[in-house]
Amino acid sequence: MLKLDIQLFAVPFRKVSKTRKRMRRSHNALDLPGMIKCPTCGEMIKAHRVCPKCGSYKGKTVIETTKEEA
Ligand SMILES: [Zn+2]
Repeated sequence: MLKLDIQLFAVPFRKVSKTRKRMRRSHNALDLPGMIKCPTCGEMIKAHRVCPKCGSYKGKTVIETTKEEA
């Protein structure tokens, strides 16, 4: 069995200071996916993905969308 230098125990919440709790939670935030403006239609889309609105990627139409709005 691996011998670890650190041991993790369940710590009663009153024993963890506000600062210590906040320092730990400083890494917990979820960040938004990389969003860019579609160069073709101007819609906010995820980077490196085909635009779901106009179906274009790198200036070319790669998928057909039912309603074409520019
Ligand atoms: Zn688009």
